[in-house]
This record gives sequence, C-alpha cells and structure tokens, in this order.
Amino acid sequence: RTMKSVSFALAAYAALFVAPVSAAEKLKVLIVDGQNNHNWKGTTPVIERWLTESGRFTVDVATSPAKGQDMSGFAPKFADYDVVVSNYNGDEWSPATKQALLDYVRGGGGLAIIHAANNSFGNWPEYNRMIGLGGWGGRNEKHGPYVRFRDGKIVRDETPGPGGHHGRQHPFQVIVRNGEHPITRGLPPIFLHAQDELYDKLRGPAEQIDVLATAYADPATGGSGEHEPMIFTVGYGKGRVFHTPMGHSPESMHCVGFITVLRRGCEWAARGEVTQTEVPTDFPTADAVSVRP
Ligand code: ZN
Repeated sequence: RTMKSVSFALAAYAALFVAPVSAAEKLKVLIVDGQNNHNWKGTTPVIERWLTESGRFTVDVATSPAKGQDMSGFAPKFADYDVVVSNYNGDEWSPATKQALLDYVRGGGGLAIIHAANNSFGNWPEYNRMIGLGGWGGRNEKHGPYVRFRDGKIVRDETPGPGGHHGRQHPFQVIVRNGEHPITRGLPPIFLHAQDELYDKLRGPAEQIDVLATAYADPATGGSGEHEPMIFTVGYGKGRVFHTPMGHSPESMHCVGFITVLRRGCEWAARGEVTQTEVPTDFPTADAVSVRP
C-alpha cells in the first residue's frame, strides 16, 4: 500500500463517522417577531412547532419591543443562526441591527420571509433586494416591477401602480413552476392550499429571483387576474432567501403544503440543500386541502 491509498482509506473511514454526525446536526433557527399587523402571537408558535417537530431544527425567538417603543436595544444575534425566519412587520430597527442582518445574509446566512414580513421596511432598499418582492409600505413602480407567470414563463411587469393587494380569503391552488429546485422537487405539480390570503401585485427589485410556484389571483375572489409568485427564492450576496407570501393566519399554516414548503424552504435557506425530501402521505392534492390539527 502506498501512503496515498492509506490516507484515502483513512479519510473514507473517518467519513463514515463524520457524515452521519453532520447530517444529524440540527439547524439553528431564529424567528423574529414582536410587531405585525397580523396575529404574530398566534403564528410564531405554529412556525416553531412545524420546524421543531421535523427534527431538523432547533428554534429560538427574538421578540422586539412593541410598536412605538424604543427599538435601540433590539439586537438579535443573527450570526449565531443558520436561518432567520421573519414574522416581523413593524417599526424600523436600529441602523446597527439592520446592518447586522445585511452582513449575516451577505455572508451566507439564510433568511425566510413569511407573509406580512414582506410588508416591512418598504423604504429600506437593501431589504427589498433581499426579499425580492414586497407589498404595501409605500411600495410602487419605483421599487421595481410586478412579477407574473404569463404564457409559460416568468415576466417582469413595469406597469405603474401600488405594490401589495389581496382579494378575499379562500383555498387556492399552488402551481409548481420549477419542480427541479430542492424546495419543490417531488411535490405534486398542483396542490390546493388551505384558506389563506392570496397576496398579489407584490413588487420589488426581483434580482436573482427564482419563482418556484405561483397561484392564480382570480378576479372572482377580488384578485389581480394574474398568476402571482407564491413560493420563490432570492439570492443576496452569498446568502439564500426563501420567501412565501402564504401564511396569513395560524389556520392557514396548518396546511400540509405550507408545512412541507416551510420546512424545506428553511433548510434550503440554511444550507442550499434539502434532506427532507419525503412528500408527506397527507400532502394536499389539486382539488382537496389537507390540514393537520
Ligand atoms: Zn394577511
């Protein structure tokens, strides 16, 4: 045996022990909340539960001071985590905290944006670049295009107008447009999401955006008449952002489609790959919702 083959054998032997340990290592999640025009006290525990019950994550929560209070001391240690989940829609953070989030994502950190988290910080340009698209918060054509699925492809629509709108809540089909991505791979091409608020007319810089799934905002329910992004990713520096406008309420978050996409999305944001590849047996079909109690 040459030295080379011995060291190769040793490396292979070591890998037997190292690989399972790293696969079993839990990813550290930080959920940020504390202000939202939604029921964040109801939704954060649901997000935490689905992530924890997957066995893939450990979860901490950073809760900001209430609206209108002094935010200067709110300084979550983003860098200590593999993925930051924003359930936050509220007052500006301190310049240092905003910079810390940018540094964390640029440096390779994962960020997950859930529903009204994309309403936050409308006039913080780097936040809009990170999240790709957002709604309300003064957003309009100056913030970037609408992004829609038309005639078999994703298009940028520069039509002037406000960013952010929704019709009345209802169950709606989520249609996978890129099934090759780790977040959507193996999922049924269409699933019926439980009753939720279907955000439409989101707009933003939409740089390095990959729209994985859309939903049709039917004018019959007050929607835009467009196929709107419902699951997408954004690249920012070395970091990865997973974004879903789904998840208005705790009830919406009990959809097995939402649960699956949340778990995969957070893992992908953290690591750029997904080990939770199994599709749950109770996953919704194209015409039947599926919720867990
Ligand atoms: Zn909502």
